[in-house]
Amino acid sequence: MAAVRLDLDGKPIKAMTICMIGAGGFIGSHLCEKLMAETPHTVLAVDVYNDKIKHLLGPEGEQQSDHHWAGRIHFHRLNIKHDSRLEGLIKMSHLTINLAAICTPADYNTRPLETIYSNFIDAIPVVKYCSENGKRLIHFSTCEVYGKTIGSFLPKDHPLRQEPEFYVLKEDASPCIFGPIEKQRWSYACAKQLIERLIFAEGAENGLEFTIVRPFNWIGPRMDFIPGIDGPGEGVPRVLACFGNNLLRGEPLKLVNGGQSQRTFLYIKDAIEAVLLMIENPARANGQIFNVGNPNNEVTVKQLAEMMIEVYSKVAGEPVLDVPTIDVSSREFYGEGYDDSDRRIPDMTIISKQLGWSPKASLSDLLESTLTYQHKTYAEAMKRMTARSATS
Ligand code: NAD
Ligand code: UDP
Repeated sequence: MAAVRLDLDGKPIKAMTICMIGAGGFIGSHLCEKLMAETPHTVLAVDVYNDKIKHLLGPEGEQQSDHHWAGRIHFHRLNIKHDSRLEGLIKMSHLTINLAAICTPADYNTRPLETIYSNFIDAIPVVKYCSENGKRLIHFSTCEVYGKTIGSFLPKDHPLRQEPEFYVLKEDASPCIFGPIEKQRWSYACAKQLIERLIFAEGAENGLEFTIVRPFNWIGPRMDFIPGIDGPGEGVPRVLACFGNNLLRGEPLKLVNGGQSQRTFLYIKDAIEAVLLMIENPARANGQIFNVGNPNNEVTVKQLAEMMIEVYSKVAGEPVLDVPTIDVSSREFYGEGYDDSDRRIPDMTIISKQLGWSPKASLSDLLESTLTYQHKTYAEAMKRMTARSATS
């Protein structure tokens, strides 16, 4: 018999049923894998797509019978915008995790209505059903709710820019600073902020047990899509897949406004450890908002491009281009209404105190495993596609 799993306070963890909405996406697929491989929990996986969790499911989208997780993952293809089955699934579960969202920056200024509906309006019934039925909720928000740093408003060489309180982002102290309404980039951050406030208020007034997660640029295998291969040819994914796509095509990486914005990148496998701790330690996670990131992995987007170029050349055995990057304006790349977060360093005090979690993977290690995955998964398909378009 398998050893009893214990929580952080030494109490046995009981098997639970989890309604995971958005289970077919990047984070959901890694979380499903982890829950199947290492826990006794059951997952009701809700999404409109299941390609990224197909390897966990059987031929009809049901459980794979020859794995030890047989019977513990059930896929429900439904759109939470309009499906009356949602409340039933939440009622059947001990915990609901909501990952569903439009969350690619290229959409925030070009499809602002869908962005706001997806991140705010469509999430309301999930919050309501959890609150009314006394169910716990883990809701995925974003580090983008912080917007711009206070320091970004100071002159470039101002000494206060070096002071942590001007750039480190703290759940219970930092303000949320967005640009003007016509900069529609902020439609996503604003919708996420309002759903956070709604959840917080449900906790305060109606006793909803909730945890809010603010991911700081989690990256790894299966993130987004490669345009023209497993996603629309004209689609613009997040930066990892944009740069991966450029590398696979042998074209220069595009640096928006020179790639001067800074980001901290967290490996998806580290991130999933943190989420599992939240799932299995409700007494420590309820009522909390958690930054989940890796403050040690900070680079400018230009430095990220340079690292990816070097790592990809090594894993693919291909030479580096003479002109490996080009600068593009944000208007050219994303269109009207784009704006950017200047810098994102997570304060780690709360997650470290509540869950004892800290990230491990360095940026160079996580890029090596992620680019090895991208090369193995896409290089052949990309060669076939380029050969086809050359002959047609
Ligand atoms: P993703 O796009 O890969 O996954 C989201 C999933 O939700 C998709 O599979 C999509 O099909 C599904 N979905 C969307 N609308 C739906 C609907 N109406 N009904 C059913 N399913 C629907 O994105 P991800 O990177 O896995 O992100 C998950 C969550 O984490 C999102 O809420 C996102 O805002 C948040 N987040 C992620 C990151 C990151 O670093 N990856 C950063 C900040 C915030
Ligand atoms: N970016 C870039 N080139 C690309 C794609 C993105 O320079 O091909 C930049 C983008 O302008 C932003 C950063 O990379 O400054 C991170 O973008 P991402 O899409 O990952 O999302 P964000 O971190 O802004 O939420």
